[in-house]
Amino acid sequence: MEVIELLLKVQGIDLAISELKAEHDTIPGQLEELENSAKELEQAVQKKEAELKELKVAMRDADSKTGLLDETEKKYKQQLMAVKTNREYSALLTEIESIKKQKEEIEETAIKNLERIEEIQSGILETKNKLDEFRSQSKVEQQELSGRIEALDEKMAVEKQKRDNLAVRIDKPLLRLYERIMNSRNNRAVVPLQNGSCSGCYAVVPLQRVADIRKGDRLLTCDICGRILYYEER
Ligand SMILES: [Zn+2]
Repeated sequence: MEVIELLLKVQGIDLAISELKAEHDTIPGQLEELENSAKELEQAVQKKEAELKELKVAMRDADSKTGLLDETEKKYKQQLMAVKTNREYSALLTEIESIKKQKEEIEETAIKNLERIEEIQSGILETKNKLDEFRSQSKVEQQELSGRIEALDEKMAVEKQKRDNLAVRIDKPLLRLYERIMNSRNNRAVVPLQNGSCSGCYAVVPLQRVADIRKGDRLLTCDICGRILYYEER
């Protein structure tokens, strides 16, 4: 039956196109993933740079605070020479002691901050290197993926043309029936009988229908899944 052969050819092409399309559809996601990974690295650098900026501000603040404390300490020490009572003297000493303590605390924090700054700076360098490496690597990958999209588009266009050439030779209602089954079944719409069963859904086909299908006078479908059945000569 010539029409079955035509349908099988169209089906072969449709299956090939859907495979091409499935691959085609994965590519935007792959491109997006590459972009997201680069963005993550960029954000990591930005975050570290922001922290670095904050620490540098804190270091400057600590410097000016220490400067002020130095001045006050100096002033108190001069006052020490001029005091008249023991009470005033010990009050000044307490003040000076408290200033020393504050300066020590500032110093301790500054040492910690310096360590952290070094740590962050080397972290930034490391992440930037990683980012550069990733960018040059992903550029190659992006080009490959874009090339693959183009190749798939071309292949699909060729297959589509082949399909159109065959489809015009099939009656419109039959073609529509085929397409409807194809859409609802997502794989094949035309299947061979296999030991008296539909090879699409494995339901047993009544004997009389098997005989009719074998005769091949008209197209018959499976009662269960609706697929178009044909007899395969062995
Ligand atoms: Zn069936």
